[in-house]
Amino acid sequence: MRMPVLFVGHGSPMNAIEENKWSRGFRSLADLVPQPRAVLCVSAHWYVAGTFLTGDAQPKTIHDFGGFPEELYQVQYPAPGSQELAEQVSKMLGATVSTEWGLDHGTWSVLVHLRPKADLPVVQLSIDGRLPPAAHVELGRALAPLRDEGVLILGSGNVTHNLRHAFTAAHRGDTSTPAWAQGFDEGVSKALEQNDTAELARLVATPDGRMSHPSPDHYYPLLYAAGAAGAKDKVSFPISGFEMGSLSMRSVLFT
Ligand code: ZN
Repeated sequence: MRMPVLFVGHGSPMNAIEENKWSRGFRSLADLVPQPRAVLCVSAHWYVAGTFLTGDAQPKTIHDFGGFPEELYQVQYPAPGSQELAEQVSKMLGATVSTEWGLDHGTWSVLVHLRPKADLPVVQLSIDGRLPPAAHVELGRALAPLRDEGVLILGSGNVTHNLRHAFTAAHRGDTSTPAWAQGFDEGVSKALEQNDTAELARLVATPDGRMSHPSPDHYYPLLYAAGAAGAKDKVSFPISGFEMGSLSMRSVLFT
């Protein structure tokens, strides 16, 4: 069975433990995806100089943030890894298997809801920040054959992600969605619906794109997902809306 591809807008790490519309949304995604054999997650939070795969038999749960309540640091997501899948993907992409990372919160803050049993093998794929947007689409495209092997390709980032703006606005008590965030979110949605990956790669370099992503780390996971999706895939948005005014929480399902 051909697996769908999923991109999730993960937002705050607190969504892992808070009961809110986003965490409820993450849980509801489980009904939209058939049971995979394994999960390959491209998280915004493993943004480094190189393309790596987690090769641990038992990947660590990484708490890659500061200043959150103790309860969040207690969260463990003890899913097994898959050295076999990591090796397979490393050959497909010319990437390197590493045991320097683990599962970061881009992965587990979503999977604690999507797959609370933590019983499926999970491998993370890093994002090489030195590569241009189109190269991330191509890497995603190279992952597409995994869909026929029951692997769920999961991108975890945010369609807009300018935290400096979000916190400044929150400090002022301003929760309105700025035009650049609205416009970028809409432009991306339209490009996704048209399976226009060239447009997705182009948009991040536009003025609204630069405002939406002062650093593109949270955008690139979407490019992997869109790359792994085919022109025949149906695109839907099971979750949409903004948090803190400008942070798009849009999720994208390609079936
Ligand atoms: Zn994040």
